[in-house]
Amino acid sequence: MDTTRSSGTATEVKSSRRVERLVTGQATSDGAGVKLVRVLTQPLQRRLDPFLMLDAFGTDNPGDYIGGFPDHPHRGFETVTYMLDGRMRHRDSAGHEGLLVPGSVQWMTAGRGVIHSEMPEQEEGRMEGFQLWLNLPAKDKMCAPWYRDITPEEIPEASAPGAMVRVIAGQALGVAGAMQRESTAPTYLDVHLEPGARFAQPLPEVHNAFVYVYRGTLAIDGTEVPRQRMAILANEAGRDGVVLQAGAEGARAILVAGQPLNEPIAQYGPFVMNTNEEIFKAVEDFRSGALA
Ligand code: MN
Repeated sequence: MDTTRSSGTATEVKSSRRVERLVTGQATSDGAGVKLVRVLTQPLQRRLDPFLMLDAFGTDNPGDYIGGFPDHPHRGFETVTYMLDGRMRHRDSAGHEGLLVPGSVQWMTAGRGVIHSEMPEQEEGRMEGFQLWLNLPAKDKMCAPWYRDITPEEIPEASAPGAMVRVIAGQALGVAGAMQRESTAPTYLDVHLEPGARFAQPLPEVHNAFVYVYRGTLAIDGTEVPRQRMAILANEAGRDGVVLQAGAEGARAILVAGQPLNEPIAQYGPFVMNTNEEIFKAVEDFRSGALA
């Protein structure tokens, strides 16, 4: 592979953030019967501003994913899909088409509106990954739709002793990620730790942040975070980042953080705006064919 690899610059965190709360996701289904776990649910949107949703999916059973997500609309935010395994085909009303493969990311800015489908490009085998919804500031919610397929090779990897980090957005260990966003300044890292290894990531105190463990276990400031749990990290003065400490089996986790927008959030299904009036307009535009 031609992956960008760097042995990162050592970064220090003097005092790690604490775990405020551990969250167990809710099993649900979406699209045409795709089974998934909704980890970041609507009641957590204010606490984890600018993040609106995190779905985790992982199954070897085609019946859990074969229906895919046929044509549906979005307006007002960005969707970030990170594939760990499996292949999904994306098509949208802005004329974009792409294939998500293991290790790739699809970053889509719905802006004023897209109608898209996300369908499995396989009839058997494993499908695993995440979809994160990242809010847009009010001033950008009606921007032109935008889309980028980020291949596995385009995601920079940084390493430190016992740690390998895929830098999807933001930066880690002195390595700039594949994506940067001005308003929300998101950090999105896939952290792989060997047994007992430690990884420190500086974070601004005001950024809302969480960690979701998908292999093994890790500890954060003495709190164990088991597999398939989200740890919401407390925002406290003097805590300058987070330290992840892998358990005896090692760990893999995503670390996500961002600058809160502190704007009203109005959501109706796939539309996320600031006011109910804007939601009514989105529904009306979708019904009349004016959304995309
Ligand atoms: Mn979608």
